Order: sequence, then structure tokens, then C-alpha cells
Amino acid sequence: LAAMRGVKAEGGWGVVCTEEVEIHPTSDIAPCIEGRIWDDHDVAGHRLMTEAVHAHGALAGIELTHAGIDAANHYSHLTPMGPRSEGVLGDSGFEPQQTRAMTRRDFADVRRWHRKAALRARDAGYDIIYCYAAHGLTLPMQLLSRRHNDRTDQYGGSLANRVRFLRELIEDTRDAVGDDCAVAVRLAVDELLGDEGITHDGEGREILGMLAALPDLCDVNVSDWSNDSATSRFAAEGHQEPYISFVKSLTTKPVVGVGRYTSPDAMVSAVRRGVLDLIGAARPSIADPHLPRKIREGRAASIRECIGCNICVATDPKGLPIRCTQNPTMGEEWRRGWHPERIAVRRSSARVMVVGAGPAGLEAARALGQRGHEVQLLDAQPEVGGRVNRESLLPGLAAWRRVVDWRRWEIGALRDVEVFPASPMDAADVLESGVRNVIMATGATWRRDGRGRSTGTAVAGFDHDHVRTPDDLLDDLESGQWRLPEGEVVLYDDDHYVMGGLLAELIAGRGHAVTLITPAPLASYWTQFTLEQARIEARLRSLGVRIVPRTTLQRISSGHVRTAGVISAEQGEWAADSVVLVADRQPRIEVHDALLPALENGLLDSLTLVGDADAPGLIAQAVFSGHRAARQFGEQVDPDAVEFLREG
Ligand code: ADP
Ligand code: SF4
Repeated sequence: LAAMRGVKAEGGWGVVCTEEVEIHPTSDIAPCIEGRIWDDHDVAGHRLMTEAVHAHGALAGIELTHAGIDAANHYSHLTPMGPRSEGVLGDSGFEPQQTRAMTRRDFADVRRWHRKAALRARDAGYDIIYCYAAHGLTLPMQLLSRRHNDRTDQYGGSLANRVRFLRELIEDTRDAVGDDCAVAVRLAVDELLGDEGITHDGEGREILGMLAALPDLCDVNVSDWSNDSATSRFAAEGHQEPYISFVKSLTTKPVVGVGRYTSPDAMVSAVRRGVLDLIGAARPSIADPHLPRKIREGRAASIRECIGCNICVATDPKGLPIRCTQNPTMGEEWRRGWHPERIAVRRSSARVMVVGAGPAGLEAARALGQRGHEVQLLDAQPEVGGRVNRESLLPGLAAWRRVVDWRRWEIGALRDVEVFPASPMDAADVLESGVRNVIMATGATWRRDGRGRSTGTAVAGFDHDHVRTPDDLLDDLESGQWRLPEGEVVLYDDDHYVMGGLLAELIAGRGHAVTLITPAPLASYWTQFTLEQARIEARLRSLGVRIVPRTTLQRISSGHVRTAGVISAEQGEWAADSVVLVADRQPRIEVHDALLPALENGLLDSLTLVGDADAPGLIAQAVFSGHRAARQFGEQVDPDAVEFLREG
């Protein structure tokens, strides 16, 4: 994290903040990723970060947090605490544990822990110390909320009482650190829950009015995290503005906010219109840690814009190192020594052919070109972009095109990378070119037989004429010729990421009655980790899509399908004029396999399979795979060694 944040500071951000940092083991939200400053033992680790940030002239900020009812304390085994005794949320949202209703002594303890954490943070070198009430998942926010706080003491009841604890934290922090550090408050001014929650034109406004004069910096957002970090599919750049634009009228202190700002024009506009003084950015700084530097240097077109997919977010609840679709170096700064802007120069003058210009091939060609290699990038299609060109036509995914646009732009500036669209290659074409190093990035197709992880077998009857794959529907979208016959559609989703839900949305939006059948407990199950599942399901329901969970598809017949329950094996029958199978994908490796003898005979020096052709997965994985192949090209790589450093 220190190395990653050092790269951000180098990239020109004025302040680089931590994630939420737990002040005490009673606020332990493991396995989710949070910082800890539980005791003096943690100070040295934080100092690594502040030094890395200061080395580039930026300020370092720390978000001190107590998570209250969100902390299940799985790691510390201490009793969770909250405004009242109620079920703990935790990483699952449904932990079999309740909090203790905080006593007077608990309040005094938390205040003291926060104060001590602030002093440790100062000693670790932080310049800005946050009192954090930005999501429903923090104790101060839970105390502000009428939904969680029904106390009758000085911390409950009137708004002034519910605000008391946050006020005390700000005052304690100021008192502890004096003028050594700035004190910031991060506050959610709207929970997007209407009258049940805090609203920007109701209590949010009043709370801010009560506190605005106390901190040095007001950082405002909307709650909860799924609203704050909404994906581009559901919220546009600057989507928080309607909720936070009042804040500057209530305070003379600088105001910072977020909203997935990636465009310099949108940022300047937010400042000029008086919405914000400072632009906050988590995801834009993940996708492009050097975004501010590029603006300053007049290179805005080189900004690697966040696509708003939340693959970065998905690592958090799993306790994993961060990753990013657009920036394959994110999280790899220390352990692999990767930098988002720099790459080792080539070791040889070898020419490389990259076959397939989807995200994997584009990234491999770009990074090889950056290293100084001569590269030929070929694709069978008239446009480069592979799966992204097609998938970005699906409802709400237009921003995903940025994966292609940024790489296309960067490749355009590389003298030695030639791009040849409309060039389908077979093994003979590759060998005739005389190139001796080949990267195959030929992608994958959706399987026709519906074989997926849940049953491991083809769906009987998959070869009926009325059965479609996602590729068929994407063909229709691209060509503009919608060929799905009118009537009932059964969509079977054994893929569980976005494709099934997106196609159901698309098909229902075109007037078909859709039944989505899935072996998972929820539609688009994996999108829980990208904070999208509830929104996807709500959208599908609003379009009249019938969702049948925990069910596998057994047989497709003319006019109907038969299903079996995952739990009870109960049989079902559903009318189906068409069936769409969204299951495993088939790697496109025919050309690669046909080239293997040439590698064995010494006609090729290297032949590397990357991206979905290697193993179908997320676009993030394809980009990473292409990037890794480019970094490793021509290098000595020990196949037996772990190729990255591990902590500890
Ligand atoms: P990935 O996600 O791994 O980058 P994609 O499916 O997005 O994979 O892209 C693969 C690209 O490879 C597609 O644009 C496809 O047109 C191209 N392709 C596949 N086979 C060939 C081939 N034999 N010759 C040229 N291009 C190919
Ligand atoms: Fe943006 Fe997606 Fe990268 Fe997160 S993973 S920073 S949402 S591009």
C-alpha cells in the first residue's frame, strides 16, 4: 500500500489518503480490507506510507474509523459494539452475532481510542486526520441515524444528541493534535433512503450546519458504499453533485467530494459551479494514478479513465490485494515492482506478432511497444477491441469502451506498433510472415451446449434451432438486426457475472417475456462483490423478468424447457419460444495449437497464449495477462519461482 500510494503521490495528487483505518480491535472488519492503527505496533507500517507520499511532495491523510455494528470482530473475537443491541452486518451482511448497546464507559473508551489513534497518526507523519462518518457502516454515522439510534441518553433522541459523538471526536482530535495536523470530517449527507434516512435537504443539511465550523476540511458523500461507489452502469460521472452541492453554502472550509470524476472538464466545471473546492477520487486514481500529472502536462488524452466496473471494489470483501480492469499495475507496485507509466526497455530487438486485438492483445501490443519492440497487432475484425466492442453495446456498459479507446490512443503514438484490422490469421499466415515470436490473444466464444460449472454437462436439447448464445445476441446488437422471435424467452445463467443479467435486461427491454433461471441463489450472483446485485435484480424485476434461482436446466424441447431444483431436485417446466444459454466459454486456441509444432521444430522462438484464449474470465484478467506477457517477454523467468514478493 505504501508503494502504491507513493506512485499516486508521484502522479500529482495533492493529498493521498488511506482507506478506512480501524482505531481499535473492537472495530475489526476482517476479512474486508481496512487499515489498522490499533496500537504503536502499527505506526512503523503507516510511516512507510507517509514517507512514500511525502517523497513526492503530497500530503498524507488517514481516515480514522470505528465501524460499530459493521464490525463482526472475526479476528479479534472482542464483543461488537453499537448504538443498541442489534444484529451485526459484517462482511456477509448477516452475521449471527449482536452488538452490545454501548455504555457510558464504551463511549469514553472509543473517544480515548480515537484520540490515541490520532496521536499515533500524527507520529506516523500524517498531515490530515479524518473523523470518519461517511457510510452507514461507521459508528458516528450509526449514531446519527434514527434507524440505528433509539437511545434515550445524551447520545440519542434529538439531532443535537445524535450529533454529539461526532462533534466530540472532531473536538478531541483537534485537541490532541493541535496545529500539527489538519482535522477533516467525512460525512454522508444523504443515504438515498428517503424519509427513513438522512437526506441532503433534511437532517444531512442540519448536521452539516451544526458541524461545519469545526474541521479544517469538509469531505462529503452519499451513503451506503453501493451508492457512494455506484458503477457506471447505474450512475454517471458526478452523480453525487445533486446531493452535495448545498454544502459550500454552509461552510467557509474547503469542500471535497467524489463522483468518479475522470474528465478534467467535469472537474473544472464542479469547481467553477461552486459545488466543490477539491476533487476527490478513489477509482479514478486507481485506474490512473498519474491523472493529475497528465492534466498538468497537457496530456489529458492519455488519462486512463476508470470504466466504473468495480472490479477494484470486489477485492475488498474478499480480503485480497486490489486489482483494476484498466490499470494492470494496480496492487503490483511493490510485489512485482510494476509502475503504471514506466516499463523496462526491451532486452533484444525481437519483433513480436500479436494475434487478436481484444483487451489482452491490445495491452500486450501496447506494453511491448512501450518497451521498444516492433509489434504487429492483427485482428480478424474490421475494428480492434474484441469482446469489449460488443459488450459495450449492452445496456449501461458504454464506458467499458474506454478499455479499448485508451489502448488504441496510446498505440497510435507508438512508432513501432503497426495495427492490421480485418486480418484473420491461420498458422500458415503466421509462419509465412517470418516472425519468430507470437502472442496469441484470440479470445473465446460462448459455448453452444450450455455446459457450465453447476452440472458439468451439456444441456440436453441444446442443438434445437431456438437456442441462442450470448454471441448470437451480440451479433444481433452489432448488426442491428434483432433475430430473436417474439414470445417467451428462457435465459439460463450458469456464468453468474454480468452477461446473464444484461441479456435478460436487453431482451425484456425489447418486449419479450423473460424467465431467468440460475443455479445460484441470486441472479448475477457474483455482482454482489461489485455492489451491483441488488440494482441488477431491481432492474430485472421492474422489467417484469421472472427470476428462478437455485435451479438447473435439464432439457430443452420445442416450446418449453425442463428444470430441476438444486436443493430438492424438484422438476419444473417453463414455456420457451427461445432459450439463451449463458454458461462456460470455449477458448479459441485452434491457431495456437496448429503453431505448436513450429515452436517444437524451432521455427518459432516463443508462442504465448494470453487472455480469454488462455482462460476465459474478466476483462481485468485479460488486460493483466497481456500486460504480464509483455513485461516477461525476453526476460529470464524461473517457472518454479513465485514471481512476486509476499508480505511477512
Ligand atoms: P481477450 O479478452 O482475451 O482480449 P477478445 O475475445 O476480446 O479476447 O479478443 C480476441 C480477438 O481475437 C477478437 O477481436 C477476434 O476477432 C480476434 N481473433 C480471434 N481469432 C483470430 C484469428 N485467427 N486471427 C485474427 N484475429 C483473431
Ligand atoms: Fe475503475 Fe474498474 Fe479500475 Fe475500479 S477496477 S478503478 S471501477 S476501471
